[in-house]
Amino acid sequence: MPDLSPIARNLETIRANIAQAAGAAGRDPSGITLVAVSKTHPKQAVLEAMAAGLFVFGENRVQEAAEKFPIAGARLHIIGGLQTNKAEQAVRLADAIDSLDRPRLADAIAKAAEAAGRLPDLLVQVNIGDEPQKSGIPTAEADAFIRAMRARFGEALKGLMCIPPAEQDPAPHFRRLAAMADMHGLPVRSMGMSSDYAAAIAAGATHIRIGTAIFGHR
Ligand SMILES: *Cc1c(COP(=O)(O)O)cnc(C)c1O
Repeated sequence: MPDLSPIARNLETIRANIAQAAGAAGRDPSGITLVAVSKTHPKQAVLEAMAAGLFVFGENRVQEAAEKFPIAGARLHIIGGLQTNKAEQAVRLADAIDSLDRPRLADAIAKAAEAAGRLPDLLVQVNIGDEPQKSGIPTAEADAFIRAMRARFGEALKGLMCIPPAEQDPAPHFRRLAAMADMHGLPVRSMGMSSDYAAAIAAGATHIRIGTAIFGHR
């Protein structure tokens, strides 16, 4: 047996934690997609992660993502707040945009999709703690916005994404996002990061977005 790379070792730990959290919740771990957040790490780190068996990646800046992707066999999610003027590049590059959070961005994505002849999967980002500094649609506007995005993008709208407030217990926020997704009949709930993915899995996460625990500190 060759020595495992640090990324492969980290991944073993995370997979064990996912299996444990899923088991405790009576869930099948195969229903949980690990999105490896490679922001700030070089393309070489992405290639090492692929060698360790990871194929779904998250980047929060389109410009940086374009320096590493596309990579054959890798799926790319844009997970960060997206400027309208970056929508065109994001639509061409990404398999999924997880941060759809306002009507003007929806307009830009629709226009770019028309021009590019492709539409990535879309998630609505909900500002689940209604924090003024955070991106995401405010919770009071979320239901109407989700309905409008469903009407506009149809099956491409897969689900919801959130980042709970840093200083609070994330569990109630995760449960609230999952309930919102259920209410709208949306299958994807992207929630949980390095520090709180077990709680997210307990609350029904289908996608967890993990950077630090895979790649180390940024
Ligand atoms: C950076 C980032 C993550 C990963 O955070 P870690 O704590 O490093 O796991 C997840 N989601 C989003 C939206 C991010 O920007």
